[in-house]
Amino acid sequence: MKKLSMDDRLAINKFDSADETPHIIVNCLECKSCTHKACLYACPAERYRLNDMGEVLFDHVGCLECGHCRLVCERLYSSSMGYSWNHPERGRGVIFRQG
Ligand code: SF4
Ligand code: SF4
Repeated sequence: MKKLSMDDRLAINKFDSADETPHIIVNCLECKSCTHKACLYACPAERYRLNDMGEVLFDHVGCLECGHCRLVCERLYSSSMGYSWNHPERGRGVIFRQG
């Protein structure tokens, strides 16, 4: 049986994303100074990734709204400048199609 990639598995769900007002904001430039980058390991949807230069990239589309990144990232938790975590606007966000 072929193993699905994370993006393939996420595509089973539906995401109504507010691209103009993302519910999670991450300042990827400031993330360069983060010493632990725990978001890379905490996100079950692999929304945080490293590019070829070792820089953190974040994509709010596909977020499962679990809140793990907010718990492991002190900047998201404390809403540091350039970082914020909120639930999607009412009626938006992930719509689970299985489970
Ligand atoms: S844990 Fe927070 S500050 Fe560190 S890389 Fe991830 S999002 Fe950036
Ligand atoms: S809320 Fe959960 S799924 Fe969404 S980006 Fe954070 S860790 Fe990933």
